[in-house]
Amino acid sequence: MSRFFSGKHKGLVSYTPGEQPKIENLIKLNTNESPFPPSKKGQEEASKVLGKLNLYSDPEASILHNKLAEVLGVKASQVLATNGSDEILNFAFMAFCDESHPAVFPDITYGFYPVFAQLNNIPYEEIPLKENFTIDIKDYIGINKNIFIANPNAPTGIALGLDEIEEIVKSNPDNIVVIDEAYVDFGAESAVCLIDKYPNLLVTQTFSKSRSMAGARLGYGVASEELIADLNTIKYSTNPYNVNMMTMFAGYGMLCDEEYTQNNLKEIISVREYTVAELERLGFTVLSSKANFVFAKHCALSGEEVYSRLRENGILVRHFTKDRIKDYNRITIGRKADMEKMISVIENFI
Ligand code: PMP
Repeated sequence: MSRFFSGKHKGLVSYTPGEQPKIENLIKLNTNESPFPPSKKGQEEASKVLGKLNLYSDPEASILHNKLAEVLGVKASQVLATNGSDEILNFAFMAFCDESHPAVFPDITYGFYPVFAQLNNIPYEEIPLKENFTIDIKDYIGINKNIFIANPNAPTGIALGLDEIEEIVKSNPDNIVVIDEAYVDFGAESAVCLIDKYPNLLVTQTFSKSRSMAGARLGYGVASEELIADLNTIKYSTNPYNVNMMTMFAGYGMLCDEEYTQNNLKEIISVREYTVAELERLGFTVLSSKANFVFAKHCALSGEEVYSRLRENGILVRHFTKDRIKDYNRITIGRKADMEKMISVIENFI
């Protein structure tokens, strides 16, 4: 740390993203990317604007907001596109949380929440998941703090039902509830249908997983017009051109190809079911996943050992060192052939 680094960031422990190694032929199952490329239309739309990069992107992101509104069944003024959903999550911490509006989230969840809280000097509380890694919604009923819940949760993959989400939102009318739906398309129920009913609800989603665009960095929030206006104030006070032109058009193109996305989703869900069955056959406990990853622990080998043996064999999964989950690995669902390879490698080393 230099002597110039502001004291306000003393103690800030930054987020550690999953590795992006440059090893050839690696089977990469560590960061929940889609194994499928963006659709042809998505690629074409992005390449059409390459010759216009001398200009700034549209700060209102109209083409994208209008298309998103159409696909989601909301008004364009109820959507805000951002540089990945990480950015809308950070905006939410900046816009709605402070000393008198602290944040609360589970102890095992997306690792960026505590970092955003620390970065913005926001007090926060981490509520332990139950022994079986589910969220006890009673912990959040009328808690009177701003709530951040990933649904499905990460890295567990376990989802709450829409009725449970609604109970939490309804019981905290004076606080913001952020439902982070990065993985919702892989089998959970979206809370977007509740935004007109609850002015305290913000739903965030991303193009990084189901829409094959992790490298383009595109996410968005959906909420009442008032909340979106607040988030816009933060956006225009940080980076009005937060979504670059290529990404904006790629995202628009992807949304024109819903059938492509739906087919990819079907395939990933079916490969997930295959992977779960095979892992269970080999002695793993696998949490019930509604995401494009599974969280699994072996009956005899440690999480670290499974991780290392896979890595030696050119397969990269995500291992966390936090005590409660160190026996587990989070395994992204890739192509069927990749998962078959992983299963045969595991079969060999056990
Ligand atoms: N929420 C959760 C639960 C995630 O796992 C991720 C991916 N790391 C994100 C949000 C952010 O994804 P992105 O910024 O790529 O949209």
